Amino acid sequence: MAFYDKCPKCGSKYFTGRQVTKNDVLVNGKGEFLQQFATTDSDSPYGPFTCRECGTEYENLPIEIPDKTPLQILLEEAKGLNEEDIQEALDEEVHAIASRSASSVNNEGVQSQLAFILENGGFEQAQRFVRSLRGE
Ligand SMILES: [Zn+2]
Repeated sequence: MAFYDKCPKCGSKYFTGRQVTKNDVLVNGKGEFLQQFATTDSDSPYGPFTCRECGTEYENLPIEIPDKTPLQILLEEAKGLNEEDIQEALDEEVHAIASRSASSVNNEGVQSQLAFILENGGFEQAQRFVRSLRGE
């Protein structure tokens, strides 16, 4: 998570927020307001906070922006590419990676092969497979 003390859209350092203040006031004998004196107490400012420059509203300050996941970064970089072209190219890449992965698992022997089947197919599938090898 990244935190910004400036508006991420325009770079402004100033926002309009709200704040509850308590003031001493002059009143008449009926308790009616006549004049305000100095502020005697104030709570912390609260949102929504509005950027003074561009008007964007933020619930909290500093502004919290979640870090992008690796998948979000890739999806953004893939934006604008021809959907069919990229899907076809990715098909080949997925097959190539899966094939390398399968070769590696197969070369590691029975324990790795069973672990792979367990992970990808679940216990029942793995057990059914082993039992079929035993002729059960
Ligand atoms: Zn702004």
